[in-house]
Amino acid sequence: MGIAINKMRYLLAAVIALTGLFILTVSPSAEAEAASAHELNYFQYETYTHEGRDWLRIELGIKGGRAEFASDVRELTPQQLHISLLNTSRGGVRSDIALDKKIAKYLTLRQTADNTLDIMVSLNKPVADQAYKLYTAEADKKGKKPYRLVIEIAADKLTSEYEADGPKAPDTLKGLQGRRIVLDPGHGGSDSGARGPGGLLEKDAALAIAKNIERILRSSGAIVTMTRTDDRDVYGPLASDRNELQARVDVGNADPGNEIFVSIHCDAFTSPTAHGTSAFYYQPSFRGKLLAESIHNEIVAATDLASRGAKAARFYVLRNSSMPATLIETAFISNYQEEALLGNPEFQYKIALAVCRGICQYFRMR
Ligand SMILES: [Zn+2]
Repeated sequence: MGIAINKMRYLLAAVIALTGLFILTVSPSAEAEAASAHELNYFQYETYTHEGRDWLRIELGIKGGRAEFASDVRELTPQQLHISLLNTSRGGVRSDIALDKKIAKYLTLRQTADNTLDIMVSLNKPVADQAYKLYTAEADKKGKKPYRLVIEIAADKLTSEYEADGPKAPDTLKGLQGRRIVLDPGHGGSDSGARGPGGLLEKDAALAIAKNIERILRSSGAIVTMTRTDDRDVYGPLASDRNELQARVDVGNADPGNEIFVSIHCDAFTSPTAHGTSAFYYQPSFRGKLLAESIHNEIVAATDLASRGAKAARFYVLRNSSMPATLIETAFISNYQEEALLGNPEFQYKIALAVCRGICQYFRMR
């Protein structure tokens, strides 16, 4: 059942820490300007277990494509998740729907005078003790599902995952307080990336390194958005490269406040002797170049990896991110020695710390 979550097609995925008020908006399409441009046309919920945690997934189909939505946790009712869909009417979906009862009791839909549809999910526990994700999913023709707003609610907090990851408290770096950083662990789910001669998968090494980067950045006060936090496709399994990469770009671009995009990969080549570390940037972006060079220099300084340089490239995520972006080829997974390093938790942390130092350096210099 753990695989079920991979079936979702993500346009936007946001894991939200639940404290106080939170507003999330998706850029509205042109037709959202018109009154009630959207109408609900589908409802479904299901429960599933992923990595030992129970989840409830609610899907609401939105006829007319993208809707703008905002969510907040109302002080008056701490056990209620509240989401507003602008320019949307309830359509044929019932106004009061019983849910699974274990995680949430019921879903209530209320139309307000200004064409807003208020969605309320009544939970069994205060929202602050749980975790949820809100995202939109593209129409799934095979599954006969329309374009949807998806609400996923976990029975427990997710924070313990991050805390349990590392053997020790992460280092704390200066100059990162309030910085908004997007981390993109390469590949995932149905796409393993490159495979080392010893069997290490690029998707696993990239995620382990990225999670270490995330811990250090967070402990340094930065605001981190991850394109994925577990072994999954961001768009959906077996998607085209373009759709999958665009889904990652969308996660970063969704918040105009995000300042940099850092994608983590491992290099591979047919010859097992190829080795070393490199960083890439999109040529027209001066800051992208600065970011790539800053991170690359710190990795070279912190490890025995040979420098292959910081170089210009036309990778999709670099060209399409709306902020300075870099793609780091940490080391060669196709090289025996470097594969062993990439699979070593101490090395994963070491290279993560170097990436964070490079990010600090970037913010000092830009
Ligand atoms: Zn890769």
